[in-house]
Amino acid sequence: MRQRRLLLTLLFLLCAAPRLTADVTSMSVVYKGKTVSIPAFQHKGVLYASLDELAAAMSFKTYVNNASHKIEVRIADTRLKMTDNNPFIVVLSHKDNVTTEVFQLPIEVMRSDVAFYMPMASFVPLLSRVWKKSLLLDQSTPRLTVTTTSQPVARVTGGLVPTSGQPSSAGETASANQPDASSVPATVTNASTGSETLAPTTDIAVEAKSAYDITRLTVDTRKNGTLIRLHAQKPLKGFEGELKEGSYVVTIPNATVDINELRQTPTDGISITGVTAEQLGPNTRLTFTLKETFTSEKISRDVRTGDLLLSLFRKVEVAKILKNEQSSKQQDGSRSKWKLDCIVIDPGHGGRDPGAIGVTGVKEKNIVLGVALKLGKLIERKMPGVKVVYTRKDDTFIPLDKRGQIANAAEGKLFISIHCNSTEKKPSSARGFEVYILRPGRTEEAIRIAEFENSVIKLEKDYEKRYAKLDNESFILINMAQSAYVRYSERCAELMHEQVKGSNQIRSRGVMQAGFYVLVGASMPSVLVESGFLSNRKEEQFLSSRFGQQHLANLFYTAIEDYAKEYQKSLKD
Ligand SMILES: [Zn+2]
Repeated sequence: MRQRRLLLTLLFLLCAAPRLTADVTSMSVVYKGKTVSIPAFQHKGVLYASLDELAAAMSFKTYVNNASHKIEVRIADTRLKMTDNNPFIVVLSHKDNVTTEVFQLPIEVMRSDVAFYMPMASFVPLLSRVWKKSLLLDQSTPRLTVTTTSQPVARVTGGLVPTSGQPSSAGETASANQPDASSVPATVTNASTGSETLAPTTDIAVEAKSAYDITRLTVDTRKNGTLIRLHAQKPLKGFEGELKEGSYVVTIPNATVDINELRQTPTDGISITGVTAEQLGPNTRLTFTLKETFTSEKISRDVRTGDLLLSLFRKVEVAKILKNEQSSKQQDGSRSKWKLDCIVIDPGHGGRDPGAIGVTGVKEKNIVLGVALKLGKLIERKMPGVKVVYTRKDDTFIPLDKRGQIANAAEGKLFISIHCNSTEKKPSSARGFEVYILRPGRTEEAIRIAEFENSVIKLEKDYEKRYAKLDNESFILINMAQSAYVRYSERCAELMHEQVKGSNQIRSRGVMQAGFYVLVGASMPSVLVESGFLSNRKEEQFLSSRFGQQHLANLFYTAIEDYAKEYQKSLKD
């Protein structure tokens, strides 16, 4: 990056600078009904215009400090301070001389013997904002038009394309630019060769964005915290976050940030009320003003996009988990609170949602209800002191999020969701039992099954608002919220798999993981079983039979009994 800047500067001195005096193009400035022509030039696809002349055309006062290579421009109640060969613009309040903002251009301000030159496409948005006027920059003419509107708007149009990502050599020919016949051609002057070529029309402001490592951020409020996504252009390393009184400070070494873009981030207003981005030498520092208290933070990198995910966790959720973990280690007194005294059985689907349909038309909702009621009866009979709560006991439609709410309200200590599997094509030979825990799906098959079981939400009102998409981001927060239960869920799933494996009636395909909405809502150890395949003739028959359902209920019960023993023992340890 540094090397590139140096090269650019050298190139400018060698090639572009002499051109400024010899062969300057110009830019029209239309303001208050008058059109004036000011010196301008194009270098590497970027349009530069003389700041001194621009200021004169707009009646801005300027002050040049030749010793420090700085220029100051007074615009309305602010002053902009720019330095030669420097991408930063310091914005000061004119009245009290206080720096209100440091604006970063994607490229440096240039200076010839006589004038400072601004890269117009990236300068115009800032100018529009501080001057509170609408500016339209047409780079193909080039022309800058100033209008007064109630809402100042900055628009940049016209085709200019950087000739190359790297400084071009003096010997570069016009053919190095690939003309694109499909788009409107615009003239680009290659500053180093002086040649003109055809280039595709591109909004230079959009192109310029990639000049920063961190381009923008998005804030997303979730049930158990707030997630901030930092959009990154390169792999970022060594990042650190620190929660302070009322703020969250994130430092990212060796990264440039689009300060202006981040400044305009709409915050969620609920947890985050402001964002400040700073470029401290080679490092980026972001400060988030917090409205609520978070107890922990975590930064991870989205392996898919390279973006940084900043997770802020709410007090309540973490407190609950810590309490749970501490309590599970405590002695008799408070142990009763975590005693396995309530098991929630969740027969999948119901009512207008039939679930999977078998080869002969058997409905999943009826089979799973049969297994669930039989399992519940066994627990009630054989495990005194353990209450059984069903999310449904008859053919009723229960929304997925309601199921978790029922379980939480009952203060369940284990949540078992019962389902049946199916393949898309029926009949098919796929067979066997599967037990799932809530984790990002590992295989396409697991993801497909979870998608099918989750698809029921489409029968619910406002489902898009009620269920956040189960993507990588959600899992970071979910895993945090459920971290206390994960090992219990895993153990319960293992025991179920072992029981079914020992059966001669149905084979177990093992413990799987996928993102099931129904498990997201339950704040307790949880598993989801796919009892068998309704798309398999033999298994459909087995699952529809009283014998088959009782057999499964017995296997599940034995696993739960084993789990309960281990669980109670873990509370004593
Ligand atoms: Zn199902």
